[in-house]
Amino acid sequence: MHTFQQTGAILFAIAAVASAQSGSASSSPAPSSSTSGILAQKSPEWLPKFNVSGVSTSYPTGAPDTGETLDKTTLDIKSYPNAWEPASTNHPEIEAVMKAIDWTKVPKATPAKADKDGNVVFGNYDEDKDPYCWWSDTNCVKPKVDYLPEDVYYCPKAGDWGLNYDDGPYNPSDEDAELNKYAEPVLYNFLANNNNQKATLFYIGSNVVTYPAAAKRALNNGHVLCSHTWSHPAMTTQTNKQVVAELYWTLRAIKEATGVTTKCWRPPFGDVDDRVRAIAWQMGMTTMIWNKDSNDWNMPGDGGGDLPWDTVDGYFEGWVEGRKNGSDNTVGTICLEHELNNATVKMTEKWLPTLQQTFDVKSIHDCMGITQPYWEQNWVYPENASGNSTTGNANSTASSSSSAAASSSSSSASSGSSDASGSAEAAGASSGTTASESSSTTSGAASNFSVSSAALGVVMVVATAFMY
Ligand SMILES: [Zn+2]
Repeated sequence: MHTFQQTGAILFAIAAVASAQSGSASSSPAPSSSTSGILAQKSPEWLPKFNVSGVSTSYPTGAPDTGETLDKTTLDIKSYPNAWEPASTNHPEIEAVMKAIDWTKVPKATPAKADKDGNVVFGNYDEDKDPYCWWSDTNCVKPKVDYLPEDVYYCPKAGDWGLNYDDGPYNPSDEDAELNKYAEPVLYNFLANNNNQKATLFYIGSNVVTYPAAAKRALNNGHVLCSHTWSHPAMTTQTNKQVVAELYWTLRAIKEATGVTTKCWRPPFGDVDDRVRAIAWQMGMTTMIWNKDSNDWNMPGDGGGDLPWDTVDGYFEGWVEGRKNGSDNTVGTICLEHELNNATVKMTEKWLPTLQQTFDVKSIHDCMGITQPYWEQNWVYPENASGNSTTGNANSTASSSSSAAASSSSSSASSGSSDASGSAEAAGASSGTTASESSSTTSGAASNFSVSSAALGVVMVVATAFMY
Protein backbone atom coordinates (compact mmCIF):
# COMPACT_ATOMS: atom_id res chain seq x y z
CA MET A 1 0.00 0.00 0.00
CA HIS A 2 1.19 3.46 -0.71
CA THR A 3 0.13 6.87 0.25
CA PHE A 4 0.88 10.04 -1.55
CA GLN A 5 1.51 13.51 -0.45
CA GLN A 6 -0.56 16.30 -1.70
CA THR A 7 1.47 18.32 -4.11
CA GLY A 8 1.01 22.02 -4.19
CA ALA A 9 1.95 23.24 -7.62
CA ILE A 10 1.21 26.88 -7.86
CA LEU A 11 4.68 28.39 -7.59
CA PHE A 12 6.11 25.90 -9.98
CA ALA A 13 3.28 26.43 -12.42
CA ILE A 14 3.54 30.18 -12.43
CA ALA A 15 7.28 30.09 -12.85
CA ALA A 16 6.92 27.66 -15.72
CA VAL A 17 4.45 29.91 -17.46
CA ALA A 18 6.60 32.95 -16.98
CA SER A 19 9.59 31.21 -18.39
CA ALA A 20 7.63 29.71 -21.25
CA GLN A 21 6.65 33.20 -22.23
CA SER A 22 10.29 34.16 -22.42
CA GLY A 23 10.35 31.81 -25.34
CA SER A 24 13.67 30.03 -25.19
CA ALA A 25 12.09 26.99 -26.77
CA SER A 26 11.03 29.08 -29.69
CA SER A 27 14.57 29.77 -30.77
CA SER A 28 15.53 26.15 -31.04
CA PRO A 29 15.91 24.52 -34.41
CA ALA A 30 14.00 21.42 -35.31
CA PRO A 31 15.40 18.07 -34.28
CA SER A 32 17.17 16.13 -36.96
CA SER A 33 14.85 13.96 -38.92
CA SER A 34 17.52 11.38 -39.51
CA THR A 35 18.44 8.77 -36.98
CA SER A 36 22.03 9.90 -36.80
CA GLY A 37 22.68 12.29 -34.00
CA ILE A 38 19.76 11.24 -31.88
CA LEU A 39 20.82 7.76 -30.93
CA ALA A 40 22.52 7.28 -27.61
CA GLN A 41 26.04 6.08 -27.20
CA LYS A 42 26.28 2.38 -26.62
CA SER A 43 24.44 -0.65 -25.47
CA PRO A 44 24.44 -0.94 -21.70
CA GLU A 45 26.67 -3.74 -20.49
CA TRP A 46 25.54 -3.57 -16.91
CA LEU A 47 22.05 -5.02 -17.33
CA PRO A 48 21.52 -8.68 -16.42
CA LYS A 49 20.65 -11.21 -19.06
CA PHE A 50 17.09 -12.50 -18.81
CA ASN A 51 15.32 -15.42 -20.36
CA VAL A 52 12.08 -13.87 -21.52
CA SER A 53 9.16 -15.85 -22.84
CA GLY A 54 5.93 -14.86 -24.48
CA VAL A 55 7.29 -11.93 -26.45
CA SER A 56 8.15 -11.24 -30.03
CA THR A 57 11.82 -11.03 -30.83
CA SER A 58 11.27 -8.93 -33.92
CA TYR A 59 8.69 -6.50 -35.21
CA PRO A 60 5.28 -8.20 -35.33
CA THR A 61 3.62 -8.34 -38.73
CA GLY A 62 0.56 -10.42 -37.90
CA ALA A 63 -2.77 -9.32 -36.54
CA PRO A 64 -2.54 -7.65 -33.14
CA ASP A 65 -3.56 -9.57 -30.03
CA THR A 66 -6.83 -8.28 -28.64
CA GLY A 67 -7.41 -10.84 -25.94
CA GLU A 68 -9.28 -9.27 -23.06
CA THR A 69 -7.38 -10.79 -20.18
CA LEU A 70 -3.74 -10.64 -19.18
CA ASP A 71 -1.72 -12.61 -16.68
CA LYS A 72 -1.35 -10.76 -13.37
CA THR A 73 1.92 -12.42 -12.36
CA THR A 74 4.54 -9.90 -11.26
CA LEU A 75 8.24 -9.93 -11.96
CA ASP A 76 10.49 -11.03 -9.13
CA ILE A 77 9.68 -8.00 -7.02
CA LYS A 78 12.31 -8.86 -4.42
CA SER A 79 14.93 -7.91 -7.00
CA TYR A 80 13.56 -4.37 -7.25
CA PRO A 81 12.93 -1.36 -5.05
CA ASN A 82 9.44 -1.18 -3.57
CA ALA A 83 6.98 -0.11 -6.24
CA TRP A 84 6.34 3.63 -6.27
CA GLU A 85 8.95 4.32 -3.63
CA PRO A 86 12.17 6.18 -4.45
CA ALA A 87 14.53 3.96 -6.39
CA SER A 88 17.08 2.49 -4.01
CA THR A 89 20.67 3.46 -4.69
CA ASN A 90 22.46 1.14 -2.27
CA HIS A 91 22.87 -1.82 -4.57
CA PRO A 92 25.76 -3.46 -6.42
CA GLU A 93 23.95 -3.12 -9.75
CA ILE A 94 23.72 0.64 -9.24
CA GLU A 95 27.41 0.75 -8.35
CA ALA A 96 28.20 -0.97 -11.64
CA VAL A 97 26.35 1.71 -13.60
CA MET A 98 28.01 4.48 -11.59
CA LYS A 99 31.39 3.03 -12.55
CA ALA A 100 30.48 2.82 -16.23
CA ILE A 101 29.53 6.50 -16.52
CA ASP A 102 32.19 9.03 -17.50
CA TRP A 103 31.42 11.63 -14.83
CA THR A 104 33.84 14.12 -16.39
CA LYS A 105 31.24 14.50 -19.14
CA VAL A 106 28.34 15.12 -16.77
CA PRO A 107 27.69 18.78 -15.90
CA LYS A 108 28.22 19.64 -12.24
CA ALA A 109 24.82 21.24 -11.74
CA THR A 110 23.70 21.11 -8.13
CA PRO A 111 20.50 19.10 -7.72
CA ALA A 112 17.50 21.40 -7.56
CA LYS A 113 15.77 22.00 -4.27
CA ALA A 114 12.20 21.12 -3.61
CA ASP A 115 9.85 23.05 -1.36
CA LYS A 116 7.99 21.49 1.54
CA ASP A 117 5.34 20.22 -0.84
CA GLY A 118 7.94 18.62 -3.03
CA ASN A 119 7.83 21.12 -5.86
CA VAL A 120 10.89 22.21 -7.77
CA VAL A 121 12.26 25.55 -6.64
CA PHE A 122 14.14 27.55 -9.24
CA GLY A 123 15.84 29.75 -6.65
CA ASN A 124 18.42 32.06 -8.16
CA TYR A 125 18.98 29.95 -11.26
CA ASP A 126 20.09 32.24 -14.10
CA GLU A 127 17.31 31.63 -16.57
CA ASP A 128 18.69 34.16 -19.04
CA LYS A 129 21.94 32.29 -19.44
CA ASP A 130 20.25 28.97 -18.68
CA PRO A 131 23.61 27.24 -18.21
CA TYR A 132 22.12 23.76 -17.84
CA CYS A 133 19.28 23.96 -20.35
CA TRP A 134 16.68 23.42 -17.65
CA TRP A 135 13.41 22.67 -19.43
CA SER A 136 11.24 23.25 -16.38
CA ASP A 137 12.48 26.81 -16.05
CA THR A 138 13.02 27.87 -19.66
CA ASN A 139 11.55 25.17 -21.93
CA CYS A 140 15.11 24.66 -23.22
CA VAL A 141 15.41 21.63 -25.50
CA LYS A 142 18.83 22.26 -27.04
CA PRO A 143 21.49 21.15 -24.56
CA LYS A 144 24.51 23.31 -23.84
CA VAL A 145 26.64 20.16 -23.61
CA ASP A 146 28.09 19.63 -27.07
CA TYR A 147 27.76 15.86 -27.24
CA LEU A 148 24.11 15.81 -26.24
CA PRO A 149 21.51 15.83 -29.00
CA GLU A 150 18.54 18.11 -28.96
CA ASP A 151 15.54 16.64 -27.20
CA VAL A 152 12.91 15.04 -29.38
CA TYR A 153 9.83 17.16 -28.83
CA TYR A 154 7.90 17.43 -32.05
CA CYS A 155 7.44 15.57 -35.29
CA PRO A 156 9.38 17.24 -38.13
CA LYS A 157 6.62 16.92 -40.69
CA ALA A 158 3.50 19.06 -40.48
CA GLY A 159 0.41 16.94 -40.17
CA ASP A 160 2.16 14.13 -38.33
CA TRP A 161 0.80 13.31 -34.88
CA GLY A 162 3.29 11.35 -32.78
CA LEU A 163 0.94 9.40 -30.54
CA ASN A 164 2.27 8.66 -27.08
CA TYR A 165 1.09 7.70 -23.62
CA ASP A 166 2.81 8.22 -20.27
CA ASP A 167 2.69 6.42 -16.93
CA GLY A 168 1.71 2.96 -18.03
CA PRO A 169 1.21 0.21 -18.11
CA TYR A 170 -2.08 1.00 -16.39
CA ASN A 171 -2.40 -1.67 -13.73
CA PRO A 172 -5.70 -3.18 -12.69
CA SER A 173 -7.04 -2.20 -9.31
CA ASP A 174 -7.50 -4.68 -6.51
CA GLU A 175 -10.31 -2.65 -5.06
CA ASP A 176 -12.30 -0.95 -7.76
CA ALA A 177 -14.02 -3.04 -10.39
CA GLU A 178 -15.12 0.08 -12.22
CA LEU A 179 -11.53 1.16 -12.77
CA ASN A 180 -10.67 -2.27 -14.06
CA LYS A 181 -12.80 -1.50 -17.07
CA TYR A 182 -10.00 0.84 -18.15
CA ALA A 183 -6.87 -0.98 -17.02
CA GLU A 184 -4.72 -2.58 -19.69
CA PRO A 185 -5.22 -4.20 -22.11
CA VAL A 186 -8.20 -1.90 -22.70
CA LEU A 187 -6.26 0.97 -24.31
CA TYR A 188 -3.99 -1.39 -26.25
CA ASN A 189 -7.02 -3.23 -27.60
CA PHE A 190 -8.66 0.05 -28.54
CA LEU A 191 -5.56 1.03 -30.49
CA ALA A 192 -5.42 -2.39 -32.14
CA ASN A 193 -9.05 -2.10 -33.16
CA ASN A 194 -8.56 1.34 -34.66
CA ASN A 195 -6.34 0.77 -37.70
CA ASN A 196 -3.87 -1.23 -35.61
CA GLN A 197 -2.66 2.15 -34.39
CA LYS A 198 0.89 2.27 -33.01
CA ALA A 199 2.12 4.53 -30.21
CA THR A 200 5.20 5.30 -28.15
CA LEU A 201 4.69 4.31 -24.51
CA PHE A 202 6.63 5.84 -21.62
CA TYR A 203 6.58 3.26 -18.85
CA ILE A 204 6.91 3.59 -15.10
CA GLY A 205 9.27 0.86 -13.90
CA SER A 206 7.10 0.24 -10.85
CA ASN A 207 4.10 -0.42 -13.08
CA VAL A 208 6.06 -2.79 -15.31
CA VAL A 209 7.24 -4.89 -12.38
CA THR A 210 3.68 -5.36 -11.12
CA TYR A 211 2.13 -5.97 -14.56
CA PRO A 212 4.74 -7.30 -16.99
CA ALA A 213 2.12 -9.04 -19.15
CA ALA A 214 0.85 -5.62 -20.22
CA ALA A 215 4.33 -4.61 -21.34
CA LYS A 216 4.62 -7.82 -23.33
CA ARG A 217 1.27 -7.17 -24.98
CA ALA A 218 2.32 -3.67 -25.97
CA LEU A 219 5.58 -4.87 -27.47
CA ASN A 220 3.88 -7.75 -29.25
CA ASN A 221 1.35 -5.36 -30.77
CA GLY A 222 4.07 -3.16 -32.24
CA HIS A 223 4.19 -0.24 -29.83
CA VAL A 224 7.50 1.31 -28.84
CA LEU A 225 8.50 1.08 -25.17
CA CYS A 226 10.44 3.85 -23.44
CA SER A 227 11.33 4.65 -19.84
CA HIS A 228 9.51 7.14 -17.63
CA THR A 229 11.53 6.44 -14.43
CA TRP A 230 10.91 4.13 -11.50
CA SER A 231 8.86 6.35 -9.17
CA HIS A 232 8.16 9.52 -11.16
CA PRO A 233 10.21 12.14 -9.31
CA ALA A 234 11.22 15.53 -10.62
CA MET A 235 14.59 14.35 -11.88
CA THR A 236 16.54 17.58 -11.43
CA THR A 237 15.94 17.29 -7.68
CA GLN A 238 17.69 13.93 -7.61
CA THR A 239 21.37 13.33 -6.88
CA ASN A 240 23.46 11.76 -9.61
CA LYS A 241 23.11 8.37 -7.99
CA GLN A 242 19.36 8.76 -7.58
CA VAL A 243 19.07 9.69 -11.26
CA VAL A 244 20.98 6.54 -12.14
CA ALA A 245 18.73 4.44 -9.90
CA GLU A 246 15.46 5.86 -11.25
CA LEU A 247 16.62 5.12 -14.79
CA TYR A 248 18.33 1.83 -14.07
CA TRP A 249 15.51 -0.01 -12.30
CA THR A 250 13.12 0.96 -15.07
CA LEU A 251 15.45 -0.20 -17.82
CA ARG A 252 15.87 -3.44 -15.92
CA ALA A 253 12.13 -3.94 -15.47
CA ILE A 254 11.38 -3.34 -19.14
CA LYS A 255 14.15 -5.70 -20.15
CA GLU A 256 13.11 -8.44 -17.75
CA ALA A 257 9.49 -8.15 -18.88
CA THR A 258 10.05 -7.90 -22.61
CA GLY A 259 13.68 -8.59 -23.50
CA VAL A 260 14.32 -5.15 -24.98
CA THR A 261 16.67 -2.42 -23.78
CA THR A 262 15.11 0.88 -24.65
CA LYS A 263 16.96 3.90 -26.04
CA CYS A 264 14.36 6.50 -25.08
CA TRP A 265 13.01 8.10 -21.94
CA ARG A 266 10.78 10.95 -20.89
CA PRO A 267 11.41 12.94 -17.71
CA PRO A 268 8.33 13.20 -15.46
CA PHE A 269 6.85 16.71 -15.82
CA GLY A 270 9.51 17.33 -18.47
CA ASP A 271 11.83 18.17 -15.59
CA VAL A 272 15.27 17.72 -17.12
CA ASP A 273 18.53 19.61 -17.39
CA ASP A 274 21.89 18.81 -18.94
CA ARG A 275 23.11 16.92 -15.87
CA VAL A 276 20.16 14.55 -16.04
CA ARG A 277 20.25 14.38 -19.84
CA ALA A 278 23.93 13.47 -19.75
CA ILE A 279 23.38 10.62 -17.33
CA ALA A 280 20.45 9.29 -19.34
CA TRP A 281 22.47 9.57 -22.55
CA GLN A 282 25.36 7.62 -21.09
CA MET A 283 22.86 5.02 -19.96
CA GLY A 284 21.79 4.70 -23.57
CA MET A 285 18.73 6.93 -23.78
CA THR A 286 17.56 9.95 -25.74
CA THR A 287 15.32 12.48 -23.98
CA MET A 288 11.82 12.99 -25.38
CA ILE A 289 9.53 15.87 -24.38
CA TRP A 290 6.42 17.20 -26.18
CA ASN A 291 5.10 20.30 -27.90
CA LYS A 292 1.44 20.00 -26.94
CA ASP A 293 -0.16 18.84 -23.71
CA SER A 294 -3.69 17.52 -23.55
CA ASN A 295 -3.83 18.00 -19.77
CA ASP A 296 -5.74 14.75 -19.67
CA TRP A 297 -4.00 13.83 -16.42
CA ASN A 298 -5.82 16.62 -14.63
CA MET A 299 -9.37 15.66 -15.56
CA PRO A 300 -11.65 14.18 -12.93
CA GLY A 301 -10.73 10.53 -12.79
CA ASP A 302 -9.03 8.09 -10.51
CA GLY A 303 -6.33 10.19 -8.87
CA GLY A 304 -6.87 12.99 -11.36
CA GLY A 305 -7.73 16.62 -10.77
CA ASP A 306 -10.72 18.75 -11.59
CA LEU A 307 -9.90 20.26 -14.94
CA PRO A 308 -13.21 20.19 -16.80
CA TRP A 309 -13.58 17.69 -19.58
CA ASP A 310 -14.79 20.50 -21.79
CA THR A 311 -11.44 22.24 -21.43
CA VAL A 312 -9.55 19.21 -22.66
CA ASP A 313 -12.08 18.69 -25.42
CA GLY A 314 -11.43 22.30 -26.36
CA TYR A 315 -7.72 21.65 -26.79
CA PHE A 316 -8.37 18.76 -29.13
CA GLU A 317 -11.00 20.72 -31.03
CA GLY A 318 -8.54 23.55 -31.46
CA TRP A 319 -5.78 21.28 -32.72
CA VAL A 320 -8.07 19.57 -35.18
CA GLU A 321 -9.44 22.87 -36.41
CA GLY A 322 -5.95 24.32 -36.73
CA ARG A 323 -4.89 21.50 -38.96
CA LYS A 324 -8.05 21.69 -41.04
CA ASN A 325 -7.93 25.43 -41.58
CA GLY A 326 -4.26 25.45 -42.47
CA SER A 327 -2.93 27.40 -39.50
CA ASP A 328 -1.13 24.30 -38.23
CA ASN A 329 1.25 23.91 -41.14
CA THR A 330 4.78 24.16 -39.80
CA VAL A 331 5.71 21.11 -37.76
CA GLY A 332 4.00 17.99 -36.49
CA THR A 333 2.73 17.26 -33.04
CA ILE A 334 3.94 15.32 -30.07
CA CYS A 335 1.03 15.67 -27.65
CA LEU A 336 1.30 14.52 -24.07
CA GLU A 337 -1.36 11.96 -23.23
CA HIS A 338 -1.61 9.33 -20.52
CA GLU A 339 -2.69 5.77 -19.92
CA LEU A 340 -3.22 6.86 -16.37
CA ASN A 341 -6.81 6.31 -15.37
CA ASN A 342 -10.37 5.88 -16.53
CA ALA A 343 -10.60 9.50 -17.66
CA THR A 344 -7.50 9.52 -19.84
CA VAL A 345 -8.44 6.28 -21.53
CA LYS A 346 -11.93 7.63 -22.20
CA MET A 347 -10.41 10.73 -23.75
CA THR A 348 -8.43 8.66 -26.22
CA GLU A 349 -11.49 6.61 -27.04
CA LYS A 350 -13.29 9.84 -27.81
CA TRP A 351 -10.62 11.63 -29.84
CA LEU A 352 -8.39 9.12 -31.56
CA PRO A 353 -10.76 8.44 -34.48
CA THR A 354 -11.00 12.17 -35.20
CA LEU A 355 -7.24 12.61 -34.92
CA GLN A 356 -6.79 9.74 -37.36
CA GLN A 357 -9.00 11.51 -39.88
CA THR A 358 -7.12 14.77 -39.47
CA PHE A 359 -3.48 13.87 -38.92
CA ASP A 360 -1.04 11.14 -39.85
CA VAL A 361 -1.15 9.46 -36.47
CA LYS A 362 1.90 7.33 -35.76
CA SER A 363 4.36 6.61 -32.99
CA ILE A 364 6.88 9.30 -32.09
CA HIS A 365 9.56 7.00 -33.41
CA ASP A 366 7.79 6.61 -36.71
CA CYS A 367 7.43 10.37 -37.17
CA MET A 368 11.11 10.83 -36.30
CA GLY A 369 12.27 8.09 -38.65
CA ILE A 370 13.71 6.04 -35.79
CA THR A 371 13.49 2.39 -36.75
CA GLN A 372 15.67 0.86 -34.02
CA PRO A 373 14.40 2.08 -30.66
CA TYR A 374 16.15 -0.70 -28.73
CA TRP A 375 19.74 -1.81 -28.39
CA GLU A 376 18.74 -5.30 -29.52
CA GLN A 377 19.55 -5.32 -33.23
CA ASN A 378 16.83 -7.82 -34.07
CA TRP A 379 14.20 -5.17 -33.48
CA VAL A 380 13.69 -3.05 -36.59
CA TYR A 381 10.43 -1.14 -36.91
CA PRO A 382 9.34 -0.52 -40.48
CA GLU A 383 8.98 3.03 -41.67
CA ASN A 384 5.35 4.08 -41.72
CA ALA A 385 4.57 1.27 -39.34
CA SER A 386 1.32 2.70 -38.15
CA GLY A 387 -0.82 1.69 -41.07
CA ASN A 388 -2.84 4.84 -40.65
CA SER A 389 -3.16 7.63 -43.11
CA THR A 390 -5.06 10.84 -43.14
CA THR A 391 -8.18 11.29 -45.14
CA GLY A 392 -9.70 14.49 -46.32
CA ASN A 393 -6.77 16.52 -45.11
CA ALA A 394 -6.62 19.80 -46.95
CA ASN A 395 -3.15 20.59 -45.69
CA SER A 396 -1.20 17.54 -46.58
CA THR A 397 1.68 19.40 -48.15
CA ALA A 398 4.64 18.37 -46.11
CA SER A 399 7.07 20.90 -44.85
CA SER A 400 10.64 19.86 -45.32
CA SER A 401 12.62 19.48 -42.16
CA SER A 402 14.53 22.63 -42.86
CA SER A 403 11.52 24.77 -43.45
CA ALA A 404 9.93 23.24 -40.40
CA ALA A 405 12.96 24.30 -38.44
CA ALA A 406 12.79 27.82 -39.75
CA SER A 407 9.19 28.19 -38.78
CA SER A 408 9.18 26.21 -35.62
CA SER A 409 9.43 29.21 -33.39
CA SER A 410 6.03 30.50 -34.27
CA SER A 411 4.58 27.05 -34.17
CA SER A 412 5.88 26.05 -30.79
CA ALA A 413 5.20 29.35 -29.13
CA SER A 414 2.04 30.59 -30.69
CA SER A 415 -0.57 28.20 -29.43
CA GLY A 416 -2.05 29.36 -26.20
CA SER A 417 -3.37 25.98 -25.30
CA SER A 418 -0.11 24.33 -26.14
CA ASP A 419 1.99 26.54 -23.95
CA ALA A 420 -0.55 26.71 -21.21
CA SER A 421 -1.02 23.03 -21.06
CA GLY A 422 2.66 22.28 -21.31
CA SER A 423 3.16 24.32 -18.24
CA ALA A 424 0.21 22.80 -16.54
CA GLU A 425 1.77 19.38 -16.89
CA ALA A 426 4.81 20.79 -15.23
CA ALA A 427 2.53 22.12 -12.55
CA GLY A 428 2.19 18.65 -11.19
CA ALA A 429 5.89 18.46 -10.52
CA SER A 430 6.99 17.03 -7.28
CA SER A 431 10.16 15.55 -5.99
CA GLY A 432 8.17 12.62 -4.81
CA THR A 433 5.27 11.01 -6.49
CA THR A 434 2.64 13.19 -7.99
CA ALA A 435 -0.92 13.77 -7.25
CA SER A 436 -2.06 13.45 -10.77
CA GLU A 437 -0.28 10.33 -11.73
CA SER A 438 1.06 8.24 -8.94
CA SER A 439 -2.07 7.46 -7.04
CA SER A 440 -3.90 6.07 -9.97
CA THR A 441 -1.05 4.20 -11.52
CA THR A 442 -0.54 2.18 -8.40
CA SER A 443 -2.66 -0.84 -8.13
CA GLY A 444 -4.54 -0.99 -4.90
CA ALA A 445 -3.09 2.21 -3.58
CA ALA A 446 -4.74 3.99 -0.72
CA SER A 447 -4.62 7.51 -1.98
CA ASN A 448 -5.03 10.32 0.46
CA PHE A 449 -4.46 12.89 -2.20
CA SER A 450 -6.46 16.06 -2.27
CA VAL A 451 -6.63 17.77 -5.61
CA SER A 452 -7.42 21.29 -4.59
CA SER A 453 -3.97 22.78 -4.68
CA ALA A 454 -2.77 21.20 -7.88
CA ALA A 455 -6.04 21.97 -9.58
CA LEU A 456 -5.83 25.57 -8.54
CA GLY A 457 -2.35 25.69 -9.97
CA VAL A 458 -3.62 24.48 -13.30
CA VAL A 459 -6.44 26.96 -13.36
CA MET A 460 -3.98 29.73 -12.67
CA VAL A 461 -1.65 28.52 -15.37
CA VAL A 462 -4.34 28.46 -18.00
CA ALA A 463 -5.67 31.81 -16.93
CA THR A 464 -2.21 33.33 -16.93
CA ALA A 465 -1.25 31.95 -20.28
CA PHE A 466 -4.35 33.28 -21.93
CA MET A 467 -3.45 36.75 -20.74
CA TYR A 468 -0.46 36.83 -23.05
ZN1 LIG B 1 4.25 10.94 -16.05
